Amino acid sequence: MDWIEKERNLIAQVYRRQNVILERGEGCYLYDINGRRYLDLVSGIACVSIGHSHPDFIEKVCGQLKKLVHVSNLYYTIPQIALAEKLRDITGMDKFFFCNSGTEAVEASLKFARKATGRKKFVAFKNAFHGRTMGALSVTYKEKFRKPFEPLLEHVEFAEYNRVEDLEKKVDFETSAVILELIQGEAGVFPADRDFVKAIFELKEKYGFLVIFDEVQTGFGRTGKWFAKEHYGFQPDIMAMAKAMASGFPIGCSAMSDEVAKKLEKGDHGSTFGGNPLACTASLATIEIIEKYKLVENAEKMGDYFMKRLRELFEDVRGKGLMIGVRVENAEEIVKKALEMGLLLNATSEENLRIVPPLIIRKEEVDLAIEILTALTKNR
Ligand SMILES: *Cc1c(COP(=O)(O)O)cnc(C)c1O
Repeated sequence: MDWIEKERNLIAQVYRRQNVILERGEGCYLYDINGRRYLDLVSGIACVSIGHSHPDFIEKVCGQLKKLVHVSNLYYTIPQIALAEKLRDITGMDKFFFCNSGTEAVEASLKFARKATGRKKFVAFKNAFHGRTMGALSVTYKEKFRKPFEPLLEHVEFAEYNRVEDLEKKVDFETSAVILELIQGEAGVFPADRDFVKAIFELKEKYGFLVIFDEVQTGFGRTGKWFAKEHYGFQPDIMAMAKAMASGFPIGCSAMSDEVAKKLEKGDHGSTFGGNPLACTASLATIEIIEKYKLVENAEKMGDYFMKRLRELFEDVRGKGLMIGVRVENAEEIVKKALEMGLLLNATSEENLRIVPPLIIRKEEVDLAIEILTALTKNR
C-alpha cells in the first residue's frame, strides 16, 4: 500500500510536501514510519515550541479531554476565561476573542477594526503574509496567492515595508487600520526597523487609525520575548495570535484594547469551536510550560548561538531569537538533501531557508544541525 500515491488520489493537491511520512515525535526529534529519526528545525511551521509530546502537555490536555471537549459559546467555560486572564498578563492587551487559526485571527481583527473606527481602508505591506481566507488574503501581498481569487476586499493598499515615505502617502483619515508583522515570517524572516514602527505610531496619532500587529508567527516566545512587540516597545490596538499558542492544537485569538472592545456588540462576530475548553487548556498548558522551563530565555540564548554558528557557513543570516532566515542559492536542494541526512528544514523561497526549531532546543542539537549543514554545503 503506497500512502503517498493514495494521498495524490485523495487529498486536494494544494501542498508541496517533502518525501517523508512522519509518525511520532519526541522533543526536538521526529520519527518516520520506518523509525528513522529527524532533527526538527521546522516545528510544524513555528508551532510546536515546547517540543513534541511534552509530558506536561499530554497530562493537562488528556485530563481535559476526559472531562469536556466542546459546548460552544452559548455557555460559559472556565478554561476560556482562565486563558484570557493569562493572555492579559503576557500581552498587556485588555480583551480577547478566540478562534481556530491565524487567518481567522486576522479576519476577526480586520472586522473589529472596521467596526471600531467606522472606516473602510486598510494599509498592509509588500511581502506581508496574513492568511488565506478572503479577508486575510486581501492584506496578503503575494500575487500568486491572490490573483486566482479576485475580487478580494476593496480599499486595501500595500506600502513598502520599512519605508516611512511610502507609508505616509498611503495613510489618511479614511484609514481604518495599518496591519503588519513586526518580523515578516513567510517572506523569509525580515524584521521591521525601530524607526519605521515608531513612525507608524506617529502617523496613528495624526490620522486616528488603529494599528494591528500580526504576531501569529512571532508570538509566544519565538523571538526571545513573549511577543515581538516587546523588542519595539509599542502596544497595538489589536493583535492577532495563533501558531505556537497551543503547541499545534488549533486555536487563534484576536486581542484588543478596551477602546476597541467597547465598540463591539453581541452578534458582531463568532465561532462555533472558538475558545472551546480543550483548545484553551492546550494553550494554557503551553504557556505554563514556556514559563516553567524558561523557554523565552532559551529562545534568546540559543537563537544568538544558532545565528553565530550559521554565520560561519552563510553570509546573510537574519532574525531574532529562534526565528531565523538564511539566504542561500538553492533552498529546495538543501531542504531535500538535509532530509536525507536526518534534518528537517523549510524553504520560504528558492533563495531562503527559515529556521524555527522548538524553543526547547539545546546547544548539542544546534551543533548537530550545523554539522549536517556543513557536510551538506561542502558536498556540493
Ligand atoms: C501562518 C500565518 C498566518 C495564517 O495562519 P493560519 O493558521 O495558517 O491560518 C497569518 N499571519 C502570519 C504572520 C502567519 O505567519
